[in-house]
Amino acid sequence: MNELLTRRFFILVPLALLLKMFLKPQKVYASSKKIEENWNLSKDEWKKRLSPESYYVLREEGTERPFTSPLNEEKRKGVFCCAGCQQSLFLSEMKYDSGTGWPSFWNSIEGAIDTKIDFKLIVPRTEYHCSRCGGHQGHVFNDGPKPTGKRYCNNGVALTFETK
Ligand SMILES: [Zn+2]
Repeated sequence: MNELLTRRFFILVPLALLLKMFLKPQKVYASSKKIEENWNLSKDEWKKRLSPESYYVLREEGTERPFTSPLNEEKRKGVFCCAGCQQSLFLSEMKYDSGTGWPSFWNSIEGAIDTKIDFKLIVPRTEYHCSRCGGHQGHVFNDGPKPTGKRYCNNGVALTFETK
């Protein structure tokens, strides 16, 4: 009997831990990200600053529908900035057409973004956000072009574009 209980225990505990991991994604909320003090705004303050679409992506880690951003077609020389705080994130030279329907980059400006792992789709993905205001930008994948092999898949509403 004891042996049976022990065996059950060894099966059930890892199972419970696994379930817990899937049911409660280890989401890191904006407030626990490393962000600059000046940009530690309340929900209401962010809502006042941003359009509803940008708020949903930047502050709630939403995803815009593919092929909806005018920035997909943006080919001029310039800088892509965080729509939350205007920090420069990507240079136009880093942009490429990934065919995914979201503005895509093979590199980012050094120090402009931070990453974390999210489990929203169960399979772990690397989320990235603006290092200054913590605003969610997109996810980075390892199927991008040379030389980095990275694909920064960015929501257009989380960015603004400034020509140089
Ligand atoms: Zn920002």
